[in-house]
Amino acid sequence: MLYQKTLAKMVSVEGIGLHTGKASRMTFKPAPENSGVYFLRKDIPGLPALKAQSRNVRATQMATVLGSDIFAVSTVEHCMSAVSAAQIDNLIIELEGPELPICDGSSFEYFKALQSGGVIEQNAYRSYFYITKPLYYSKGDKYAYVLPYNGFKVSCTIEFAHPKILKQKIELDVTPFSYEKELSSARTFGFIKDVEALQKQGLALGGSLKNAVVLDEKSILNPEGLRFDDEFVRHKAMDAIGDLTMLGHPLIGHVVLHKAGHDVMHEFVQKILQSPDCYRVTEIVEPLTLFA
Ligand SMILES: [Zn+2]
Repeated sequence: MLYQKTLAKMVSVEGIGLHTGKASRMTFKPAPENSGVYFLRKDIPGLPALKAQSRNVRATQMATVLGSDIFAVSTVEHCMSAVSAAQIDNLIIELEGPELPICDGSSFEYFKALQSGGVIEQNAYRSYFYITKPLYYSKGDKYAYVLPYNGFKVSCTIEFAHPKILKQKIELDVTPFSYEKELSSARTFGFIKDVEALQKQGLALGGSLKNAVVLDEKSILNPEGLRFDDEFVRHKAMDAIGDLTMLGHPLIGHVVLHKAGHDVMHEFVQKILQSPDCYRVTEIVEPLTLFA
């Protein structure tokens, strides 16, 4: 059995919100055993907090948004992806506004910040979300399924009718090391025609070539080009790891995704949670060589 983890010390990340375009500051703080990951709004009286779990997901259209009747926290997926990859169980994420900083459009800065806070073991065993039977979900031409597997593996395919994207596939056993090297620096992406439409609706106001790969009809507009030839599918895999954290415990299983955005991921997570014959939550998942 493995122990739960949190941070040794608090650490902050600053930037602007992708949709609000406003300055955004957040602080990762250590949390006690068995508390889970919470988002706390420091700018609202009473300091309301929300646990990062499926039942608190309020919207999935442009980003994953957690919310209650009184407040919301937007664009949590990159941060949660980094929390998951850093194998942190308990954490308070304090925010001074409604949206997390987008950083460079990837999860790299979050992942580095968490590591600089010092990931430490606590005095309680970690519980895993252990898949025992396959489970399939589809929506139109998109699908997601999960298979029993001795570790956490993500296979992801995307298809875009754009000459710089087309069909891309990635398959990865997710460990802190593989995540940092293969996924953490893959940036979000968008099409210039969509960006203009979104900005007219008051969204993507912080979006720029500094925090997204932007494409026109045929080419990539960023002068520096891509970080990987298949940066697009790497980003989708990174997003998916963030959305899978809404299960509430680290997943032991192989997740296979095709064209799965935040909406499909949220519905897939809900379907898994509603299928207790396909999983068990357990501290004992040995041998677990990938997590040693
Ligand atoms: Zn993303």
